[in-house]
This record gives sequence, C-alpha cells and structure tokens, in this order.
Amino acid sequence: MTVRRGADATLSVVVPLYNEGANVEELLARIRRVVDELALPPAAWELICVDDGSRDDTLPQLLAAAAADRHLRVISLSRNFGHQIAATAGLDAARGDAVVLMDGDLQDPPELIGAFLAKFREGYDVVYATRRKRAGESPFKILTARVFYRTIRRLTNVAIPVDTGDFRLMSRRVIVALRNARERHRFIRGLVSWVGFKQTGIPYDRAERFAGDSKYPFSKMFRFALDGITAFSEIPLRLATWFGFVVSAIAFVVAVIEIGIRIFTGYNLPGYTSTIFAILFLGGVQLITIGILGEYVGRIYDEIKGRPLYLVAETSGSGLDAPSDSLPSTAPVVR
Ligand code: UDP
Ligand code: MG
Repeated sequence: MTVRRGADATLSVVVPLYNEGANVEELLARIRRVVDELALPPAAWELICVDDGSRDDTLPQLLAAAAADRHLRVISLSRNFGHQIAATAGLDAARGDAVVLMDGDLQDPPELIGAFLAKFREGYDVVYATRRKRAGESPFKILTARVFYRTIRRLTNVAIPVDTGDFRLMSRRVIVALRNARERHRFIRGLVSWVGFKQTGIPYDRAERFAGDSKYPFSKMFRFALDGITAFSEIPLRLATWFGFVVSAIAFVVAVIEIGIRIFTGYNLPGYTSTIFAILFLGGVQLITIGILGEYVGRIYDEIKGRPLYLVAETSGSGLDAPSDSLPSTAPVVR
C-alpha cells in the first residue's frame, strides 16, 4: 500500500471522549487553530470525535458542531466501552494518510500535530509523543506509571517505548494493520509497537487537564496495566514454574537442617512453626498462580465469545470524502 506523504497527504485526528462536556468547545477550537496554521487544503483533513457513551452534554455539543462543520465527524457508541475501544472505533473510521490519536481533555497538546506531520513526511510510519513532564497529576499516578512502563518493558519482547501514551501519529498502513488486530483487551500503544515499520518519538510536556476529572481511577488503571502485560507477555505464566523451583529448594534446605538437628542433637522439634509456615506459604503461592492462570483464561474466554468490539448508535457528519484508494468501508458494526 502506498502512503501519500507529500502535499496531497490527508490527515485524520481521532479523539475519544467520555463526559468531556467542559472540554469540547476548547478542544475543537484548538484543533481548528492548529490545522489552520498547517494550511492543509480545505478537503484534506477530518476530525473524528468518538463519544464513548457520555452521560453529560458531550454528544449534543459534538452533534451541533458537526452540523456546522463538514470536517467534523461524530461517532456515538451505544454505551461506555472504555478509552481503548472508543479510540479503536475512531481509528477504524479514519480515512487519512496520516492519523493522529489524542485525548479529549487537552492533556495532549494539538499543537504537536505539526511536528508529527514533519516526521511523517520524512518517512516515519509512527511518531509517538514521549512525556518529559506530567503536569497536574498526582505523585501516585506518576510513580505507578513509571513503574508500569518499566515493568512492561522488561516483561515483553515487543519494544514498547517508556513514558509514552497513545498520543501519536500513525500512517495509513499502520492503521490498516491495527484493523486486522481485533483483540478485545486492547493495549493500543503495544499493538502499534508490535506493528513495526519506522517509528520515532518526540518529547513533550504533558499538560494538565483543561477541565473535569480523570476518567481513569486506580481500578481502571490496574486493569489496563494487566491488559497490557497479558497481551504482550507470557512471563507471568512461567512464574508458576519458578515458584515451584523456589519452594522445592526451600523445602530441601529445611529438610537438611531438620535432619542435621536430629542427628547431632537428638532433639525432635515439635515443628509447629515450620508446618504453619509451609502451609501458608504454599497456599499463597498456589493462589497467586491460579489467579495468574485465571487472568489469561478469562481473556481467552472473552476472545472466544467473538462479540463485536463496540456498537455504534449513530454517526453524523462526513469528514474526509473517501480517497479513491480507500479501504473497504467499515460497516457500522465492526468486529
Ligand atoms: N475516555 C473514554 N472512555 C472512557 C474513559 C476515558 O473515551 O471510558 C477518554 C477521555 O474522555 C479522554 C481520554 O479517554 O479523552 C483519556 O482519559 P483521561 O483523561 O480520563 O485519562 P488520564 O489522562 O487521566 O489517564
Ligand atoms: Mg487525561
């Protein structure tokens, strides 16, 4: 597939939104300003906003804006499917040669799109933005994020860049590759690394949210981290084997000590402490490994059900007119 990278290249900006009513106006204004400065031809860009089942006025605001602006395309999902799935719905609909994925809370500055495009024109297929600083986020979130990115780098054989979220530009052939990777516990940044091609990063300072609160409480972050690790590593499954070896080694050492004490002192220990310790320790190890197995088995079950990743309730606006070499159009309900 040829990717146009010259002056005729088209651009899609994809934004998933969940209860971001207070951000919509500013978001649209800032993206429009940035695209105006890029001086793209009038028919050469689209903005795809995916409403992920918001309960506030995000959707009505988007629909009103789409009625007045043909660059804007709104996809409203039938319920809240989560950030990664909402982003996938947007990427599925994107028709540009270059596709930028960004958050709707303006933590990812649209002003970086120009720098993304410059790298894209140099021939890169993925340009990701690496966080130098994170403003307005709790020390806890910053610490857990640091630990997470470094853990996942050790556990996986796909090189996933550290401190890098989903804010990035992807070329059309990367988007097509993602359309063929329909796993449902999605870790988009990992999938994009897995795709390969020429990738590069540019550093940026992550801004504070423009308005509203984070939609990622600790429980969701934890689940997301598990999705990332289980999708790209089998090492946790191997932990059971390692635990087995370690426990056997400990048992062997304890046995040698007990026998030694018996031979040399003739004293037969009552053995309460060591028995309790062995029961608790082994019980713990077994529960942990069953839990790890469960994480993988649950994901296999989810995949095998083969449900669609998301359902679209309504779409509005046309965005980019499909280019002549366009992909087969994605039906409203996409697997
Ligand atoms: N989001 C979404 N569905 C969700 C949760 C979040 O579409 O179920 C969107 C949200 O509106 C935002 C982006 O995903 O545009 C990132 O979410 P958030 O800013 O809450 O995450 P954080 O930056 O705190 O990690
Ligand atoms: Mg955010």
